[in-house]
Amino acid sequence: MKTGMFADIPVDIGVIYEGERIRKPDMHVELGGKKVDHKFELLRVKDEVEDGKITIIGPELKDLKEGSSISFGICIEVAGKELGEEMEGVFERRVHDFCNYIEGFMHLNQRYDIWLRVSKGAIKRGLTLQLIGKVLERLYKSELPIIEKIQITFITDPLKVQEMRSEAIKIYEARDARARGLKDEDVQVFYGCTLCQSFAPTHVCIITPQRYANCGAVSWFDGRAAARVDPKGPIFEVKKGKTIDEFAGEYEGVNQVVKEKSLGEFDRMQLYTAFGYPHTSCGCFEGVAFCIPEVDGIGLIHRDFKGTAINGLTFSAMADSTAGGRQVDGFHGISIEYLRSPKFLHLDGGWSRVVWMPADVKERVRDFVPKEVVDKIATEKDTGTIEELRKFLDAHAHPITERWKAAPAVAPAEAAAPTGAAEPAYAEAAVEASPLAAGGVVLILKNAKIYAEKVIIRREKRKK
Ligand code: SF4
Repeated sequence: MKTGMFADIPVDIGVIYEGERIRKPDMHVELGGKKVDHKFELLRVKDEVEDGKITIIGPELKDLKEGSSISFGICIEVAGKELGEEMEGVFERRVHDFCNYIEGFMHLNQRYDIWLRVSKGAIKRGLTLQLIGKVLERLYKSELPIIEKIQITFITDPLKVQEMRSEAIKIYEARDARARGLKDEDVQVFYGCTLCQSFAPTHVCIITPQRYANCGAVSWFDGRAAARVDPKGPIFEVKKGKTIDEFAGEYEGVNQVVKEKSLGEFDRMQLYTAFGYPHTSCGCFEGVAFCIPEVDGIGLIHRDFKGTAINGLTFSAMADSTAGGRQVDGFHGISIEYLRSPKFLHLDGGWSRVVWMPADVKERVRDFVPKEVVDKIATEKDTGTIEELRKFLDAHAHPITERWKAAPAVAPAEAAAPTGAAEPAYAEAAVEASPLAAGGVVLILKNAKIYAEKVIIRREKRKK
């Protein structure tokens, strides 16, 4: 018989379920995710909250069509004598790890990008949104005792999700705007976050006033609030220490923390570049900055972009090449808010180096892009191929063309296709740290390159 805090919950609850993936064949339903336009999660600090109240607007999990993807919202309201509005962002981010403690329930991403799945097994055992609400309520109050009261609403009614999402977007924007203005030079400490290590074990986010976290959900102010409220939690103070290179964003204190938290995997991090020693990328990033060697430029793509980018790759393909807590030269996980930072890819040339981005993101950040460059950056509406892009940049006198004069860009035929490129003549797998297991032995390949003309994978026939 089950005992303890979750004895009445039909599935197991614990940190061991963090990192659990629910594949499509095992999924009962997908909540949010790429296939639906409307999804969000929001946490607010309120004066009045009905403690323990859990509300479901729309059908319960078991009544949703098996295999479907539906609009979904989570709204959490908390109260407590010592709570303040500045804590909302970091408490909201804990939805991610608390949901992932639940066996058969997967949570990815944040804010307006959430993607959850419930397994068929969990539904068979009786998991409901009501029970998920109870788990979240207990985890929030036990792990963050500063929260005295909590009420939770889940929304599966698509019209209500749409309506409440519009309000949530305004709240995220107001939060982000509050965090703008402060400079890295104005502070002596940054903040680190290792919340995503369950999915990317060597990843550590370094959050500075001018570099929002990859997930777009934690600002420097959020980091400060989190480290004060929960000093033993996943967000902690990072002393800057001696400045090694202010322009690149490299600091002794940051390098020390990165070395310690990545378990020695990395010992340098330059915050404002996509090359060399870039910030590591977990998997929660809102977008990817990717190198386009044919024009010596940088492209941007975000999670909601449905087509292929100028290099012929989808967001998912590039995210696979970027994620996992690695430093990938030329592929860099970023938040949308970081695009608004004056230090955005500072070392690489900032906006003068960006040559392609989705039209939707361009509109969202237009006011933060230098006026003399913004209309020289192509979108999917202007160009579909690298050759068209080259002509567009030339015709618009994009600043990148000055770099072409100084050092010619790589000719298309010579340009390296990143891992995952469509139909390469020969597949090249760059394996940084990949375990292969067989016969009880684990072989770890580090920084190995494997070349093969053909790869054949056969199921081994078991001997009877
Ligand atoms: S992306 Fe970074 S800041 Fe955001 S939850 Fe993950 S580790 Fe923390």
